[in-house]
Amino acid sequence: DALACRKGGAPETAGRADPQRRARATRRLRLQQALVGVEERDELLVVYQPLVDLRAGRLLGFEALLRWKHPELGAVRPDEFIPVAERTGTIMPIGEWVLERAACDLALWRATEEHLTVSVNVAPIQLRSPAFPQRVAAICDGCGLPADALTLEITERVLLDDRPAYELAMNELRAVGVRVALDDFGTGYSALSYLSRFPLDVLKLDRAFVAALDGAPRPRALLEAMTKMASALGLRTVGEGIETEGQLAQLTASGCDVGQGYHLSRPRPADELSPLLGRVWRTGGDGAAPG
Ligand code: C2E
Ligand code: MG
Ligand code: MG
Ligand code: MG
Repeated sequence: DALACRKGGAPETAGRADPQRRARATRRLRLQQALVGVEERDELLVVYQPLVDLRAGRLLGFEALLRWKHPELGAVRPDEFIPVAERTGTIMPIGEWVLERAACDLALWRATEEHLTVSVNVAPIQLRSPAFPQRVAAICDGCGLPADALTLEITERVLLDDRPAYELAMNELRAVGVRVALDDFGTGYSALSYLSRFPLDVLKLDRAFVAALDGAPRPRALLEAMTKMASALGLRTVGEGIETEGQLAQLTASGCDVGQGYHLSRPRPADELSPLLGRVWRTGGDGAAPG
């Protein structure tokens, strides 16, 4: 990492590293440079993955997920480029671009489906920026989107870090009307005590919990306990990474509120979403229609 961050690429260290490490460092450096101003070059795309109400089987909204297609490197996965953008600060303009895109797309769909909401992932460094809550409010205003139709997804890492800036930002966002979701909950960072301290609205249970649902009683019991705890705290739960019908049924039965995953729908570009708007999913919940 130190290698990739150093300006100009530090050839003397790179030369001693083994070829694989060297190739990785070179790629990171290339990505780092290509991310500067990328939001102005028509290489970014936001795709949207449905969030489904598990009781009624109805579409609640979407999670906005960023895609990047570099002219020579091709598609680069967010898991690879987001950390680079976070480390070098380019996530600031990129993150704003995503927010604006998602807020304006959503405002459009809400013209016909006025209950729909959108969730946007936000990097810790964005949240720490003192101007962030007001920027979010301005972006919503600019697109004509009510702030309560927007949820910001933050990672557990934020809660680990004891900076007052995070708590302040979350309180300000809440005052603006925006909802806050804790993403990938349970992956190993967060202490439960944080859940009562921070003003959260939604708990996104990491897909590892969903993947563990194989019909055995213990994974199911764990999930039930988590959804009960969340509901006692007034938090909605989202189960991520639902890939099979069995996982969907068990998640629904364990009291989870919202589902997301390839089994329900893959993320899609904005212009391919209309077939999903009126759809009813069969989730195993009470209100679900057959089919
Ligand atoms: P995340 O926020 O936890 O998003 C969910 C990830 O799980 C997405 O990966 C999604 O495509 C994937 N996924 C959805 N359903 C399934 C499933 O059934 N099975 C499996 N195996 N995966 C599923 P994606 O789009 O590659 O994004 C990866 C991560 O990159 C995101 O994880 C998020 O942390 C980050 N990210 C994506 N877009 C943004 C963005 O605009 N800003 C920031 N700061 N981070 C972003
Ligand atoms: Mg997310
Ligand atoms: Mg997640
Ligand atoms: Mg994730």
